[in-house]
Amino acid sequence: MNGNPALRQRYEQVLGRLRQACESAGRAPDSVRLLAVSKAQPASQVLELAALGQRAFGENYLQEALDKIAACRDEWSAAAPGGPLAWHFIGPIQSNKTRPIAAHFDWVHSVEREKIAHRLSEQRPEGLGTLDVCLQVNVSGEASKSGAAPGETLALALAVAALPRLRLRGLMAIPEPTDDVNLQRARFAALRELHARVKAALDGEAARCFDTLSMGMSADLEAAVAEGATIVRIGSALFGERSMRSPLPASPLSSST
Ligand SMILES: *Cc1c(COP(=O)(O)O)cnc(C)c1O
Repeated sequence: MNGNPALRQRYEQVLGRLRQACESAGRAPDSVRLLAVSKAQPASQVLELAALGQRAFGENYLQEALDKIAACRDEWSAAAPGGPLAWHFIGPIQSNKTRPIAAHFDWVHSVEREKIAHRLSEQRPEGLGTLDVCLQVNVSGEASKSGAAPGETLALALAVAALPRLRLRGLMAIPEPTDDVNLQRARFAALRELHARVKAALDGEAARCFDTLSMGMSADLEAAVAEGATIVRIGSALFGERSMRSPLPASPLSSST
């Protein structure tokens, strides 16, 4: 692996933006985790970023992700020490795709229905620990179709928190894109306030685990950090603009196995 100077530079830029955003918000620099959204990127890019220290990767498209996870598992354990990669599923979930998601991911950010949560819990393999999940909330009203309605989120959270093989970690949102920083902040603030209401309704251990606000992408991470994000999901600012939205053909790495 001879390294990609542009990737290193973008990674350092994003880490710098995060540090700056934390400082401006009076938050500790380690209070926000970076999730590198590697959708539409080949396994080689994941491995290069992993070599620079990144461990958590987010994927939207199941088949593309499974190929990439397999390719990275082969390469990463051999290539470098320093801990395993963590995989977060952040895309829409069809109910017939829950089994491989439960088996191959560490986190799922995009749970928006109880039925999906039940299936993930039932299908989480015995040999693995609990699956960390966030509930996706539609904080943009009619401007977005994905996510549970804010008014349904508390009931959904109580149901999901009771499932044995899931650990409810928090809330996630993808507000409508806008350059209006005040609107960005208003959407993220709405998620933060909803998070506080749900946390207050959970008891003991469940409330303590409910520590995550997954919000902020390349264009609005500063607003998200200012409103309390604990995980920002960054794709294009790290990897450059995506040229495709759909799953890639087999990656060069997976063809070697
Ligand atoms: C693609 C995607 C991201 C990253 O978006 P960028 O604007 O490229 O940073 C974050 N979250 C979700 C759910 C995504 O689908």
